[in-house]
Amino acid sequence: MVLDKLSEGLKATLSKIAGSMFVDEKLVNELVKDIQRSLLQSDVNVKLVFELTQRIKERILKEPTPGALTKKEHLVNIVYEELTRFLGGEKSEIKLNEQGLSTIMLIGLFGSGKTTTSGKLAKYFMKRGKKVALLGLDVHRPAAMDQLQQVGKNINAQVFVLKGEKSPVKIYKHFEPEFKKYDVLIVDTAGRDALSLDLIEELKQVHEVAKPTEALLVISGDIGQAAQTQAKAFHDAGAITGVVVTKMDGTAKGGGALSACAVTGAPIKFIGVGEKVDDFEPFNPKGFVGRLLGMG
Ligand code: GDP
Repeated sequence: MVLDKLSEGLKATLSKIAGSMFVDEKLVNELVKDIQRSLLQSDVNVKLVFELTQRIKERILKEPTPGALTKKEHLVNIVYEELTRFLGGEKSEIKLNEQGLSTIMLIGLFGSGKTTTSGKLAKYFMKRGKKVALLGLDVHRPAAMDQLQQVGKNINAQVFVLKGEKSPVKIYKHFEPEFKKYDVLIVDTAGRDALSLDLIEELKQVHEVAKPTEALLVISGDIGQAAQTQAKAFHDAGAITGVVVTKMDGTAKGGGALSACAVTGAPIKFIGVGEKVDDFEPFNPKGFVGRLLGMG
């Protein structure tokens, strides 16, 4: 799993706390160094690591231990709370409109897992009783439409594609009268190998006509430090309301993708944990950190 190394490091740190005689400044310094090392080794951005561990240290040294807790428990709590805050704090769910159509626009570079995620998201809502359709607006990659059709076929969802048409806005408008038959429309937009001005312009135009309820950035867990520039540029372009981090089942370090979310302030809404359509989970920072720390 992505972040296994981070988990190992953090668990070792917690064992160190458990095994120490008492909580003193020496232990706190060691703890902070250990956490820094684990996060850096997992590719979390240096500045973010410093800010995070600085907060942990300050809280440990300044906050009185609540009556019901031992000093050690308090220490572990602070580490847990700060890591959770780093990953967005509270669970952030997709917001659907109470009535009428909700449109979810997925954006991201080639290979980030956008099309796969379109299918996963569609299945997720279908399981919850929603009528879902997929709209293919990746007009640049010839195979993209076929891939989306295949995805739709596998889950029995309606897919709208217009092969040969090069304007995503025209495609959207062409099918627009159909959309009112659905609760959720998932819009798979075009990617590129790298972020470019014309991609940003295209996404802005699609955003303008589709008026998405949510615009989700799809980034791959293995992307590394490049994730932050990418996330920021996409964020500036299209008012991202959330992030899906894919390939969390891989062996990459994962910290780059997590840093990207922290930089944009956009909450992680889902994670992809495999290639299959059900390998998809809503992201819950508390549960996630609990698992990282081996707290069950
Ligand atoms: P797109 O270019 O952004 O539309 O990316 P695709 O959806 O085509 O995905 C690119 C590759 O990543 C495909 O081989 C997918 O099967 C794979 N992929 C997508 N999401 C996941 C995931 O969560 N885990 C794993 N292991 N592979 C994934």
